[in-house]
Amino acid sequence: MYYESYDAVVIGSGAAGFSCAYRLNQFGKSVAIVTEGIFDGTSRNTGSDKQTYYKLGLAGDRPDSVLEMAKNLFSGGSMDGDTALVEAALSARSFLNLCELGVPFPVNRYGEYVGYKTDHDPYARATSAGPLTSKFMTEALETCVKERNVPVFDGLLAIEVLKTEEGACGVLCLERKSGRYVLFRCGNVVLCTGGPAGIYADRVYPKSQSGMTSLAILAGAKLQNLTEWQFGLASVAPLWNVSGTYMQVLPRFVSIDEHGEKREFLQEAFSDPYEALSLIFLKGYQWPFDSRKILHGSSLIDLLVYRECTLRKRRVFLDYTENPFGLKEIDFKRLAPEAGEYLKKAEAAFGTPFARLEKMNRPAVELYFNKGVDLSREMLEIALCAQHHNGGISVDLWWQSSVCGLFAAGECAGTHGVSRPGGSALNSGQVGALRAASFISRQGNERIAVEQFERISEDAKNRLPILQKGAKGVNLKSKISLARRRMSDAAGAIRNLPEMKEAYLKTKRDLEELSSILSLGTAEEMYQYFKFRDLLLTQAAVLVAMIDYAETHHTRGSALYTNPKGEHPKGLEEFFSFYLDDGESGAWVQETIPEKDGLRIHWRSVRPIPENDDFFENVWRNYRENQNIY
Ligand SMILES: Cc1cc2nc3c(=O)[nH]c(=O)nc-3n(C[C@H](O)[C@H](O)[C@H](O)COP(=O)(O)OP(=O)(O)OC[C@H]3O[C@@H](n4cnc5c(N)ncnc54)[C@H](O)[C@@H]3O)c2cc1C
Repeated sequence: MYYESYDAVVIGSGAAGFSCAYRLNQFGKSVAIVTEGIFDGTSRNTGSDKQTYYKLGLAGDRPDSVLEMAKNLFSGGSMDGDTALVEAALSARSFLNLCELGVPFPVNRYGEYVGYKTDHDPYARATSAGPLTSKFMTEALETCVKERNVPVFDGLLAIEVLKTEEGACGVLCLERKSGRYVLFRCGNVVLCTGGPAGIYADRVYPKSQSGMTSLAILAGAKLQNLTEWQFGLASVAPLWNVSGTYMQVLPRFVSIDEHGEKREFLQEAFSDPYEALSLIFLKGYQWPFDSRKILHGSSLIDLLVYRECTLRKRRVFLDYTENPFGLKEIDFKRLAPEAGEYLKKAEAAFGTPFARLEKMNRPAVELYFNKGVDLSREMLEIALCAQHHNGGISVDLWWQSSVCGLFAAGECAGTHGVSRPGGSALNSGQVGALRAASFISRQGNERIAVEQFERISEDAKNRLPILQKGAKGVNLKSKISLARRRMSDAAGAIRNLPEMKEAYLKTKRDLEELSSILSLGTAEEMYQYFKFRDLLLTQAAVLVAMIDYAETHHTRGSALYTNPKGEHPKGLEEFFSFYLDDGESGAWVQETIPEKDGLRIHWRSVRPIPENDDFFENVWRNYRENQNIY
């Protein structure tokens, strides 16, 4: 049997994966990256008008501290305090490493990393290298990994983590091109597979990102906060968030039915068009759908878009060529003061939405133009899309999962809670990569003897379908599309208990059907099989978590759990009634635990922010002994 052996294998080539491999190499470990596609994933292929990185304050006269930053992260609710403290403590080191590697984060003339405020950020810790911050990060880290001659196995889909009672001992992969299985033997596996984007139809993640959270589920690793996502309005072709200026210039919202009948639908919900316009403006910097802003705020706009798309089955577009509501000219004085004054200051209180966009943000016009959409003539299709998973694989303060030797860093790790400051995802990925690598650097490399490894990998392969020329073909692509649509409709930003239960039953049925497949005729079918299996296992885990949450708690974060007895958002059907959580749930973490007979839900208190012994001599003494890695 052929396999490669390393101290650690990192799965994924996004900002987290490259960073972890770089650190492992730096700390003297033998490491390889396994990736489905070196140019795939969210980090390399996504961005926004100003893609944000959240870090400790490094400019000006306003004091910042590790503990203050940790408290801000922790205050999002359902986040573990030790995770928050580590993310704050290592944010400067991780950020400055990226600067040293050449990511162009701006400094002022005196070298200060001047920041700005992002959502859920009381300080001004955010910075940005422009619309493509995460792409620049990935490219800089990739260069560094290549310079260090870290092997990158491209075109391999990791499908199972191999393990014994003691912990992880290897990875089983599928080579996409040939459909053959490939093995890695290692004492440590770091999952950097990104967010499980593939479970949803309506998503702004790049097409090349689907994630593989099932690697952890099949290994029996705990997951947490699976209910917590971030949703927001995004264009569907190209996939891009329509945040910031795209909303502040007040476009028209138009929906079209299957016969091509067009109408502006926001006016149904508002008696005063200027109230609607003011909320559209606010959506610009209140981008994520936020359940606290439904009854009296800008998230009503998200719900109205959702209703058109999902309930009324109409396609929704932004139109920049004309002012909304048949207004020849907008009376800017009638907008909410923050909207009217902002547009005046920006010298954009005139003309059509397109004219305002050109005036305020010419690059925003060019961005779509370069991607094939001319906003001066064409409408832009949008939907309420999944953008980020706050929950994921449970990790401890070294980003190790509940399975020894199996780590998770980046978006697949469930390190965030209900809400998080914009930009903290990129910080978490870098910090998690460093923590996992630091811990692994002090570990032994081999968990088991060669013969035992060969037995385990043989057993694993025998449980999986084989590639057999002439085997009956199966069209899994259309089943994948159906399953994604089902999930977006039942368990996206709007969650209705009976619909989620039905979706769960259908997911289980699909899984049963899939498990009866023993052979497949082509390499592509093998690949689709494992993609579909991952999608269904992950959907099942997310649905179990959401169903339990809906049965025990009220609406929070970036989701609305319908409740016919609750409060009713104006202008919408009874269906959208809900009760808002009073914040109590933020003291708890919901865990989803894979067990032999299914998934079990367990609620535990959040781990508090640790109180440290900060006496230098004590810290130093321990550091000399074990670098405080334990
Ligand atoms: C539109 C948009 C805007 C965003 N804006 C911000 C922002 O402003 N600030 C912020 O902090 N965050 C933002 N995010 C989130 C952030 O970009 C992501 O969380 C982050 O880039 C994820 O990095 P990662 O390394 O964990 O995963 P990714 O970059 O997604 O990489 C995952 C890698 O794993 C590989 N992979 C997956 N499964 C397998 C498998 N089974 N076998 C082999 N390889 C596999 C993929 O091919 C890919 O290489 C945004 C996200 C989106 C979609």
